[in-house]
Amino acid sequence: MNTNLYEKGDSPLIFPQFENEASMTESEICVKCTGCCRYVTVDLVKPRTKEKIQLYTWYLLHKNVQIYIDNEGDWNLLFITPCTELQSNGMCGIYETRPKICKEYSPKSCSRTGKDHTHLFMTPTAMLEYLEEEKKKKKPAKKKSK
Ligand code: SF4
Ligand code: SF4
Repeated sequence: MNTNLYEKGDSPLIFPQFENEASMTESEICVKCTGCCRYVTVDLVKPRTKEKIQLYTWYLLHKNVQIYIDNEGDWNLLFITPCTELQSNGMCGIYETRPKICKEYSPKSCSRTGKDHTHLFMTPTAMLEYLEEEKKKKKPAKKKSK
């Protein structure tokens, strides 16, 4: 695996593909991918005020910080930064005592295959365009004058 994929300072979190994926088990793919051990997320509220939008814009101006909307419609702040316990062989250095969130994570909501989110914003522009589109959808259509 090319680990440099994860090390570009301003790159998105890129998940690798493997030629022989079809013949690999979920665990084998996870040990080679390690994508789940390379970020943290924090809950956000959907931005409904100018102040919040300004705040989220500021977040997105930073390298390795992104925002995504998950499958439940909840907003999340994403920091692309590897766990210090991730070993070079793809294994967890504290497997037995790893945090609950790591134990409970299921490959069924794998980020690599994009199953965990509906929208991902890497830049303020991307988020602002999305919010603008949402606003347009909510505006009632003007009645046509006779
Ligand atoms: S669940 Fe998906 S993103 Fe996470 S380590 Fe496994 S393959 Fe990678
Ligand atoms: S504690 Fe282990 S399983 Fe959890 S993110 Fe770190 S390396 Fe991955």
